Amino acid sequence: MSANQNSSNISQRGGVGGNPTDQSKQADDKRRSAAQPPVLVTDQRSPRAGLLRFPWGAGLLMTVVGAWILWHFDPGAHGFYPRCTFHQLTGWQCPGCGGLRATHALLHGRVAESWNLNPLPILTGPALLIGFWLWHLQRMTKSDKSQLWARAYLWLVVVGLLIFGIVRNLPSQRIR
Ligand SMILES: [Zn+2]
Repeated sequence: MSANQNSSNISQRGGVGGNPTDQSKQADDKRRSAAQPPVLVTDQRSPRAGLLRFPWGAGLLMTVVGAWILWHFDPGAHGFYPRCTFHQLTGWQCPGCGGLRATHALLHGRVAESWNLNPLPILTGPALLIGFWLWHLQRMTKSDKSQLWARAYLWLVVVGLLIFGIVRNLPSQRIR
């Protein structure tokens, strides 16, 4: 008996609260506006916009001009190339020492000589490709996993350079 009364009361209250069609219309409008967040659209565009902002033309021109100079003028024979301050001050080799001579040898196809002088010019191409791919993946997916991979790769490069800088100054390596 009492349960019956309760249910009839509830159905009545729903009707009393105002026009039910107006309420559902308002709820529909709210749902529709919530389904179109404008933030998502600008977020999707930002990776490509960031890529276009980088002066690729200037970077390519500098690379071509630098390669032309290095191809024509051997850093081992010409004194106008910048000297390594770290090497002048400490007598030790930094990770970049010998890089210009190694690039010169590489441009002339002397791969073994280039590797012995400094392996970085040979490794730079593949390393940049992997780095660019990871960066692209991170910007497009925005997933935690891709961010972790990009960060781990950056640390791998930094630690690798540090270890290379230490190993190449070990007595056994310097005799060579
Ligand atoms: Zn150096």
